[in-house]
Amino acid sequence: MSFYDEITSVNIMDYSREVDAKSENEVERALAKARNDEQLDLGDFMALISPKAIPYISEMAMLAQKITRRRFGNGVSMYVPLYLTNLCTNNCKYCGFAVHNKFKRRVLNAEETRLECEAIKKMGYENILVVTGENERRGGMDYFREMLPIVKEYASYLSMEVQPLDTHEYKELKTLGLDAVMVYQETYDPACYKENHLSGKKQICVIEWKLLNA
Ligand code: SF4
Repeated sequence: MSFYDEITSVNIMDYSREVDAKSENEVERALAKARNDEQLDLGDFMALISPKAIPYISEMAMLAQKITRRRFGNGVSMYVPLYLTNLCTNNCKYCGFAVHNKFKRRVLNAEETRLECEAIKKMGYENILVVTGENERRGGMDYFREMLPIVKEYASYLSMEVQPLDTHEYKELKTLGLDAVMVYQETYDPACYKENHLSGKKQICVIEWKLLNA
């Protein structure tokens, strides 16, 4: 079963109702398990994000801090975002890059990218997150082929927030020096997705989603 089949078989509203119905006793039980270092399950998680858990937020924060310190120590991972372009053909309600917002759009050329990298280097960062909007024509694979090797010269760890690509393109990004790629799925609720992605390629995803479910 693919992830898509799995997620479309779930009714998010059922989970939402289950969360709302959690009792104070269930919150207490989940917290007791956390205090005793026992494994929490999905029901416990639901209790801890339920309205009944609101009075326990401080205690949850303290427990979370204790567990985080035990697992990761006091280490803090810092990275710098490098915006190569703010061009985007999509229109997501929650984003300043959305195509209908009127402001000056930029696509850094090789020289400008190098200047940014030099500035980042001076700040002492080697963990760089490259960010772009979605624009296949001016900010797609041809552009990445030119820019990523430049950024990689300055990065010991290079990651990227990038538009959805084909498998062979992700593979190619790796050969260009990329260590990790971030692709966000803002919501798995088709109605909410449609409401927040008003036009552009992401709106097409909504139509494809509908066809797949027809
Ligand atoms: S696709 Fe990304 S960059 Fe473009 S509008 Fe949506 S969130 Fe913003």
